[in-house]
Amino acid sequence: MKFLELLDREIRYLKGIGPKRASDFEKLGVVTLEDLLYLLPRRYEDKREVRSLTELVFGDFNLIKAKVVNVEEVNVRRNLKIIRALISDGSRRKAYAVWYNKGYIKKFLSLGREFLFYGKVISKYGEIQVQDPEFEPVEDLDALGAGRILPVYPLAGNLTQKVLRSVVGMVLDMILPELPDIVPRDVLERNSLMDLPSALREVHFPSSLKEVSKARDRLAFDELFLLQLFLALRVRERKTVEAPVLRPRGDLLREFWNRLSFTLTNAQKRAWKEIQADLSSGKPMNRLLQGDVGSGKTIIAIAAMLLAVENGYQAALMAPTEVLAEQHFWVLDQYLTPLGVKIGLLIGSLKDRVKRRVVEEIASGDIKVVVGTHALIQEGVEFKNLALVVIDEQHRFGVMQRAALLKKGDSPHVLVMTATPIPRTLSLTIYGDLDVSIMDEMPPGRKPVMTYWVTSKKREKVYEFVKKRVSLGEQAYIICPLIEESEVLEAEAATKLFEELNATFFKEERVGLLHGRMKSEEKEMVMKAFKRGDLQILVSTPVIEVGIDVPNATVMVIESADRFGLSQIHQLRGRVGRGPKQSYCILLADPKTEEAKKRLSVVVSTTDGFKIAEEDLKMRGPGELCGVRQHGVTDFKVADILRDYKLLALARKEAFFLVEKSPNLKDYPLLRLMVKRKFAEVGELIDVS
Ligand code: ADP
Ligand code: MG
Repeated sequence: MKFLELLDREIRYLKGIGPKRASDFEKLGVVTLEDLLYLLPRRYEDKREVRSLTELVFGDFNLIKAKVVNVEEVNVRRNLKIIRALISDGSRRKAYAVWYNKGYIKKFLSLGREFLFYGKVISKYGEIQVQDPEFEPVEDLDALGAGRILPVYPLAGNLTQKVLRSVVGMVLDMILPELPDIVPRDVLERNSLMDLPSALREVHFPSSLKEVSKARDRLAFDELFLLQLFLALRVRERKTVEAPVLRPRGDLLREFWNRLSFTLTNAQKRAWKEIQADLSSGKPMNRLLQGDVGSGKTIIAIAAMLLAVENGYQAALMAPTEVLAEQHFWVLDQYLTPLGVKIGLLIGSLKDRVKRRVVEEIASGDIKVVVGTHALIQEGVEFKNLALVVIDEQHRFGVMQRAALLKKGDSPHVLVMTATPIPRTLSLTIYGDLDVSIMDEMPPGRKPVMTYWVTSKKREKVYEFVKKRVSLGEQAYIICPLIEESEVLEAEAATKLFEELNATFFKEERVGLLHGRMKSEEKEMVMKAFKRGDLQILVSTPVIEVGIDVPNATVMVIESADRFGLSQIHQLRGRVGRGPKQSYCILLADPKTEEAKKRLSVVVSTTDGFKIAEEDLKMRGPGELCGVRQHGVTDFKVADILRDYKLLALARKEAFFLVEKSPNLKDYPLLRLMVKRKFAEVGELIDVS
């Protein structure tokens, strides 16, 4: 197709663009003509209106037609030379056009000649100044772009606005006549969206500023629409396959419920009902179980896994880190072993001999429930009959990773658990292919954690406080600073702090150390000792962010808390407040920026995970919030999921409707092609009809 060939064509093959310019363009992220089409102007210069000196807008850019009355050159300092041109347009006002260190322009400013000036107008020392204006003789009206609204692009290297404007103009002329509108007519009409060629033209060379925002909306809609179509196709694909029907048919699950020492919260009951309906439907479940830390997701996941076992199948639980996998393993051990269900742990750091045995027992079906990191599925482990995968993902996998992962298995049911509440806009993108169960209720009797932020000057006071709580039989965590990208440095910092505290403040207390570089048996010993209460204080790297469950721990001290993201702090805080006792979270931090201060005050002021997630998204953007950049999912060129949440909702509705109406998009081959092209990295869409 001609337009696709054009979109993919590289800009370096265009006339007038040599290797030098091409490399400047590349610095702007522009390699293909399509990249250039979507290089949006940062702002616009409105040169439609020539203003007389009596109707200038101060503080803004103005286009002025005036004669040069006088020109003077002023040496202010050794390296500051000013050219001042007195200009007049016959009105009662005069103004000065002012240039700094641009001696060479003096010769262009012929006295008595009429020019168009374009520059920012300010009032200074009681005179009107036009600062550093562009100017052209009035006869040369077009050169300055007078009468039009002009785009202002980001620049790199030797590129100028002039070059960009002309290249963009040329490319628009080449492509727009060939460009079909991929979005169906009725969708455009229902949502009052501009057609694509107009949108591209208007966003670069607008006929009015109002059109710019309509054009931008259209382009943003396209991005969101393609993503949602991709998700809708995936959802549909998953629905066309069969999955094991899992229904209660034995005593295991009943026994499990009977042994629980508490009753489920209403939120847990609701979630369980939804999950049960999915599991018995004969189609694969794709569900996100979203609930704040401590809301009791694990119990629900265990019940689902037991249902698989009760029906003669296996289940797997995948955790993002080894520490968390081990933690889950102990919890499962506590609930499943007494029921006679054989469980296994599979993580990279196991001894080969042990690993081999676990792998064998998974293949033979001896092990019914296996816990591990995602190595579990990647390393080609063969299951006898896997019916359910639970992913405790903590934002570490997105749609793309999940899609890649599921291609490996047959079509097991999938339950994704996430502890950090995600703003709705974000969940419609990174989790947009999942049904959602929300657990918005905490088990009864929990007291909100009291949170304080203190500067490092008060460190000793904080340690005194820890000492006091510990003397009352409670336990504490001390979390070391986060060191992005370096587990080694993090481990060193933790070891140092541990040794120091052990030798000074907490000589009498029993202190343990936990970091990611320890052997897995070591970690296990430390965690078990802390859980039993043999250790009173646990000094740890942020590895424990996820999953540790010690209800007797009541104090969480976070060192250099300003280095953490909001959601991370919230996760860490969730490690305390898990029992009936009042718990405390103390943030030690000397934040240097206003933003960091604001972040800390957000966590201090609320324990509502949803609020925190919203703030986090606003402050850090979606990419960082997810921990990993979500390829193709949140790095949009035009759309911004915070600002465009309404468009997102529309795009989602239309996309799911369209795939419903035309399965596999078979009546929309071009649209399907565009989805495939955009999400090629995820692999082929399977043809289903
Ligand atoms: P999450 O994984 O959602 O952070 P967990 O499943 O680890 O939370 O549960 C946190 C703690 O609450 C665990 O000790 C768990 O046994 C307990 N718990 C779970 N559900 C209930 C409930 N309905 N009533 C009381 N305690 C509960
Ligand atoms: Mg958990």
